Amino acid sequence: MLWPGNAVNVRIDIDRLMARIEALGEIGAVHGPNGERGCARLALTDADRDGRELVVTWMRDLGLDLAVDAIGNVVATRPGRDPSLPVVMTGSHIDTVRTGGRFDGNLGVLAGLEVLETLITLGIETERGVAVGFFTDEEGARFAPDMLGSLVYVGGMALEEALDVAAVDDGARLGDELARIGYAGPVPCPSTAFPYCFVELHIEQGPILEDEGVEIGVVTGVQGISWTEVTITGQSAHAGTTPMRMRRDPGYAAES
Ligand SMILES: [Zn+2]
Repeated sequence: MLWPGNAVNVRIDIDRLMARIEALGEIGAVHGPNGERGCARLALTDADRDGRELVVTWMRDLGLDLAVDAIGNVVATRPGRDPSLPVVMTGSHIDTVRTGGRFDGNLGVLAGLEVLETLITLGIETERGVAVGFFTDEEGARFAPDMLGSLVYVGGMALEEALDVAAVDDGARLGDELARIGYAGPVPCPSTAFPYCFVELHIEQGPILEDEGVEIGVVTGVQGISWTEVTITGQSAHAGTTPMRMRRDPGYAAES
């Protein structure tokens, strides 16, 4: 990293970052019964499109190189001194679940943007390019599986298969929704230019750090979720009169 003069004490502008989080949080804002403020921007809905447009506007305003790939992942890059080197990348997602928070995902994207704006403002050049991105359908609340955009990005799921996934709410095809909101991009996916490394800033999703008074933790992986659908078939019998020991009650079996 090449520092201008003696500027070694580089700080981001926390007020600017918080203002962007607030502004993005207004799109699809939901309010809980106890005054909670959250967000509902399910993947590839109109609200997701509006959120994307806002973040992309900020990226463009900073003069970043914008790339939208075939699954709708958006990556904005500030080139480094050596364009032949893979970039350092940060980012997250801006889609939410139906009752999502304002920080989940959004923080990782907007903090990355803040870092880039800080580098630009201070005129700090980097050897490698630095990129910030957001991945399509991280939550999986509308299109299964979750982390779909990043999965296709790394080649873990075929693009054609992902584009054919149907929405759980209205049955819409993912590829059609992507085109409808204008984010079926021209950049190939899986990626042909993987970053040198990737770091993501994320709010704590559980209560542990806060409970223990620890400010920050470092994770190297996430939990592996597997979904299983179970059908238990019982046998009907007259309610009330059939003793429990003689029942074949599926509700009872499912509970135990
Ligand atoms: Zn998240």
